[in-house]
Amino acid sequence: MELFWHRRDVRLSDNVGLAAAADRGPVVPCFVFDDDVLEHAGAPRVRYLIDSLSALREDYRDRGSDLVIAHGDPASVIPEVADALGADRVIWNEGYSGLSRERDARVETALDDAEVAIDHETHHDAVLQKPGSIRTNDGEPYSVFTYYWRKWHDRAVDSPARTPEPDDLVDADRIRSRLESGVSGSVTDSVESAEFGTGESITVGTLPAISALGFEEPDAELPPAGTEAARSRLEGFCEGDVFRYEEKRDLPAEAATSKLSQDLSFGTIGIREAYAATEDAMARARESDLDEVDLPAEADPESSVEEFQRQLAWREFYMQVLRYNPDTVSANYKTYENPIEWRDDPEGLAAWKRGETGYPIVDAGMRQLRAEAYMHNRVRMIVASFLTKDLLVDWREGYAHFRERLCDHDTANDVGGWQWAASTGTDAQPYFRIFNPMTQGERYDPDAEYIAEYVPELRGVDPDLVHEWHELDDDRRREVAPEYPAPIVDHSERRETALAAFEAARGED
Ligand SMILES: Cc1cc2nc3c(=O)[nH]c(=O)nc-3n(C[C@H](O)[C@H](O)[C@H](O)COP(=O)(O)OP(=O)(O)OC[C@H]3O[C@@H](n4cnc5c(N)ncnc54)[C@H](O)[C@@H]3O)c2cc1C
Repeated sequence: MELFWHRRDVRLSDNVGLAAAADRGPVVPCFVFDDDVLEHAGAPRVRYLIDSLSALREDYRDRGSDLVIAHGDPASVIPEVADALGADRVIWNEGYSGLSRERDARVETALDDAEVAIDHETHHDAVLQKPGSIRTNDGEPYSVFTYYWRKWHDRAVDSPARTPEPDDLVDADRIRSRLESGVSGSVTDSVESAEFGTGESITVGTLPAISALGFEEPDAELPPAGTEAARSRLEGFCEGDVFRYEEKRDLPAEAATSKLSQDLSFGTIGIREAYAATEDAMARARESDLDEVDLPAEADPESSVEEFQRQLAWREFYMQVLRYNPDTVSANYKTYENPIEWRDDPEGLAAWKRGETGYPIVDAGMRQLRAEAYMHNRVRMIVASFLTKDLLVDWREGYAHFRERLCDHDTANDVGGWQWAASTGTDAQPYFRIFNPMTQGERYDPDAEYIAEYVPELRGVDPDLVHEWHELDDDRRREVAPEYPAPIVDHSERRETALAAFEAARGED
């Protein structure tokens, strides 16, 4: 019997480790709520995780099996469950953050040290190209994306892994009876438990209420969770928006990106399956089989599909950066001669978080984050630049807020995005290229539609006035949009301050 430990791979299909377990079979699947992980989580992600696990549990139940759901330190719970089941082996897919690797090492030691040692095996599942497999000619992992991308794009990719059949799985009654006779505490078996979070527990199919994990229901409206929902997002995107991605991806009002980030982050869809869908789209683009697709005049569908694949490569690029530089979760990747003198600005930080900076595109983004636990990529870049350059607030403050609020938070991508904006990361924005939030708003949301959606105070205001907000005098502002705040800083002045701070960090003052 194989124990398969689900982590950031909340699905049955295209799951490399699970398919390997099923090849040996039969499999008992399990998931462990780990306090060390929950400590860094936010309410939207915990809600999304519970809902994704609920969908996973149904997928197992449809196959006559069930999901073992536990709470506690995996280094103690996993050996206990494996021992109770009499499992020959524990199998899981690798994680690439420092936290994940340290925990996995502890679990491996605990399995080796168990009274009767239990075998374990890991697989690479979250990526098409495993971290470390693409290196520079000097054998180093890449720190420049363009070169990484070229090699990544030329590599062969695996086909989606097979989905386990009912015969590959241990049936629910057998799981329950084995666990009941094998574990020291009781094995609960209810639908949702408010008691779940207290102490170590092992259950067959009991999901915790969110409050039991110490979180309140999030205010944000989240997308539907689970593999079916992810697959329908993928299919919808690959039928239309993928062919206009290059032209539309930077326009937040169009919402023309895939919205797959939470699925790729929680692993409710497999990356091989997602990539195969893009390859099918590429074949359609090459054969000009796009009569039913509404394409902008200037669209180049092949180039659009490739541009989308490039974003999938960014994800793997950042994953390998994190794998080989685990302290970049809190330390700058790029070192300057002197420390960057970040400003302590609690009021500015609070206004940024509330979406009340008086810079419309920044405020729209921060309010989208609050409403949907999501923000469009272009706007993430703008708000991150505003915080780290205009306010000169440490990127770690912004990262912590995103980590708490984003449903799609992914350590590698979030750190990568923040360090890029702060000019401290791999391949980062040069410190002297500072986004002007007004011209960014004008270029990427010319009709102020995105702004109007999230900033009701500016609804109905002439877009030209929205984009000139920083230049209007107080009387005019009161006349145009009395409820909307004046800019909290002057961008031109703050730009100079930021340049001076970075030049000082470079030892140039
Ligand atoms: C400051 C900042 C913070 C970010 N934090 C996160 C985060 O926590 N989690 C996250 O998944 N992405 C993050 N991103 C990257 C990007 O903004 C999101 O992946 C994207 O907006 C998600 O929407 P989508 O799925 O529609 O993207 P699409 O444009 O459809 O892209 C498809 C997928 O490619 C990957 N991707 C796209 N852009 C990037 C990128 N720049 N870097 C790495 N991977 C990318 C994502 O997995 C995404 O789902 C961040 C970017 C910035 C600037």
